[in-house]
Amino acid sequence: MWGLLVLTALFLSVFGKETFEGHQVLRITANNEAQITLLKELSEQAHLRLDFWMEPIRESLPIDVRVPFNSLQTVKDFLAQNHIEYRVMIEDVQNLLDEEERQMLKSRPTPRTTDDFVFSSYHDLNTIYAFMDTLVAENSNLVSKIVIGQSYEGRPLNVLRFSTGANHPGMWIDTGIHSREWVTQASGIWFAKKIVTDYGRKPSLTNILNNYDIYLEIVTNPDGYQYTQTINRMWRKTRKPNPGSDCVGVDPNRNWDAGFGGTGSSNNPCSETYHGPSAESEPEVKAIVDFVKSHGNLKAFVSIHSYSQMLLYPYGYTHTPAKDQAELHVLARKAITKLQSLYETQYKYGSIVTTIYQASGGTIDWTYDQGIKYSYTFELRDTGRFGFLLPANQIVPTAKETWLALMAIMKHTKNNPY
Ligand SMILES: [Zn+2]
Repeated sequence: MWGLLVLTALFLSVFGKETFEGHQVLRITANNEAQITLLKELSEQAHLRLDFWMEPIRESLPIDVRVPFNSLQTVKDFLAQNHIEYRVMIEDVQNLLDEEERQMLKSRPTPRTTDDFVFSSYHDLNTIYAFMDTLVAENSNLVSKIVIGQSYEGRPLNVLRFSTGANHPGMWIDTGIHSREWVTQASGIWFAKKIVTDYGRKPSLTNILNNYDIYLEIVTNPDGYQYTQTINRMWRKTRKPNPGSDCVGVDPNRNWDAGFGGTGSSNNPCSETYHGPSAESEPEVKAIVDFVKSHGNLKAFVSIHSYSQMLLYPYGYTHTPAKDQAELHVLARKAITKLQSLYETQYKYGSIVTTIYQASGGTIDWTYDQGIKYSYTFELRDTGRFGFLLPANQIVPTAKETWLALMAIMKHTKNNPY
């Protein structure tokens, strides 16, 4: 760990933070299968260093891609030559990052109480960990912190446990397994405060917590999150090196033992969807696997991502419908109706494979196959205007509307024991 820290410090002093000056995010619309094929070929040209925020898989879905300044002309020429439509969604990525950083500096230093915490801002890892400890200290009758494992770089994998009694079945929520999806960790912080605020005051949440424990892992990929804060804001994967490759990290949402290595995951360590050398190779994934198995009584499992505004249920690795599909679908509709009631944010919902595309080795396919019926994945705001760089003034509205959907799922879970 120390060797690594020293190396990281050296690296930083020599290279500093990665800049995204002149990078643009393009929204590409493919009109037929031939254009999808062309875009896939484009994505395989490693020297262009393209970062597909939305993969070119299905014509009906927009394809968002971050293009480094040096590749812009090549990519735009390619699109024009092949009559593929596109528009510029983000003119200069670095401008958004500068604004994000200015805004983060404003909310320092770390407050002493969670009442003074600035929920409408993004925070660094230490501040989030300090928030958790303060929340536990303030509400020790209700909240405790458990450490379910260690990240590759040795950081604790902290989970908040909200509990009013022993031997309750549990419900799980995680945020930030993809580190650059910052609105998810920020929403997780807001959920934690919301739970302690509502317990004993709001009958519905009180009723849930009187019968179920809630587990909340806010920074599910802490190495990745630290890396997004200090070196590369666009980092998605874990930070474990891949032997024989210069590319680092595994996609922790392709690393689960559910259709592992199948369609919609990559065996190339340089890919953003690299599934890893084997299922559960990433300690961040293995820790949750061990926790789920040792707990043995989780009844709902919600894994939160961004962006694209979707609520999804299994499966992703197979076209075979989940045996509870009908119930999962009705509950998704109910949850989304609640969510939309606040700010009219439009969501799609359905199974992963029908709503986005086939993706193997994903979290909720594994939890569902473990017998956790109410397994869902959210893709939070937005639909691509800002993508992963959602402005901080949207954190609280995003968290508030999402909470309504989470409550619908938790209430249903409580009212439908199995
Ligand atoms: Zn994600």
